Amino acid sequence: MNTTDPHPQPALFPASAVTPAPPPSPDFHDVTFHEIQARTLLNRMPGATPDGMGWTLNPYRGCTHACTYCFARDGHHHLGHNTGEDFQTHLYVKTNAAAVLRRELHTGKTGSQWVMVGTSTDCYQRAEGRYQLMPGILRSLTDYRVPFTTTTKSALLRRDIALFTEAARVTDVLVMTSLGALDNRVWRAFEPAASPPRARLDTLRALRAAGVPAGVLIAPVIPHAADHPDALNTLVDACAEAGAVTVFPDVMRLSPGARDWFLDQAARNLPPRLHHRLAADFDTRRAMPSRYVQQVTDHIHARAAQHGIPRWQDYIRSLRRPVP
Ligand code: SF4
Repeated sequence: MNTTDPHPQPALFPASAVTPAPPPSPDFHDVTFHEIQARTLLNRMPGATPDGMGWTLNPYRGCTHACTYCFARDGHHHLGHNTGEDFQTHLYVKTNAAAVLRRELHTGKTGSQWVMVGTSTDCYQRAEGRYQLMPGILRSLTDYRVPFTTTTKSALLRRDIALFTEAARVTDVLVMTSLGALDNRVWRAFEPAASPPRARLDTLRALRAAGVPAGVLIAPVIPHAADHPDALNTLVDACAEAGAVTVFPDVMRLSPGARDWFLDQAARNLPPRLHHRLAADFDTRRAMPSRYVQQVTDHIHARAAQHGIPRWQDYIRSLRRPVP
């Protein structure tokens, strides 16, 4: 995190230097859908603990939000696609997701553990408007009173707020909005088809107004583009103002499948100085030095604490129900 340069952002990232992404096509002509019948939906999380995060589920593979840094890009390689353009244009849709989930929950296999919905790819990406898989998934989790959390960068989630409210009445629910910067230049450059930052905060606000516990995954914090202490403070303050019950900070890492695409897009869209800094940082490694990561994480947590917002782990722990 740059704490010494008094003018790092304007110098590195002038607004005029970012090439705006084209708006998403409303008719999906740019997307090839691969509809699949899933045999199972729930995946066991390695190292799961009783009453902890035990399971994940993902109704979609691939994501039209097209974030250049997305770690889920790696998975498209295993489907026979490239991890660049194909990741955001070839979508795999588990069309029977809700029915399969209901069948699995009926066996009681999740016990008291949480289910994390949409850990790999965003389950409120554009395709959800067409396939509408989430209402059935939410109803299944609610009917079996399974605690769950989901994370999104999409304002489409607002369509289902009534279902989240219903779920929150009978089980533990936590909706995380993923937001690493308030700066529209960062959004346009790195997350071209996700909802704008202010729309994500509005979603958080709407969830809180509807009585749904909701927080912010402050991620990824992109080195040099979004890590200035003032920018982080403004972001945390905005999360607090919108009613976040918790925050979870994370600094950008690049998986092998995302790295080349990220740097290629950075070379095309970013000012040369910013591109060169990112290229130098991620040329031979996948993550920033641990000292940097700790510094950013501590900074965000300290600012959140000023608003009385607990860390994600502490928040989840505070919800733990006594074992009968
Ligand atoms: S919204 Fe999430 S899953 Fe989708 S491209 Fe962005 S980081 Fe990847």
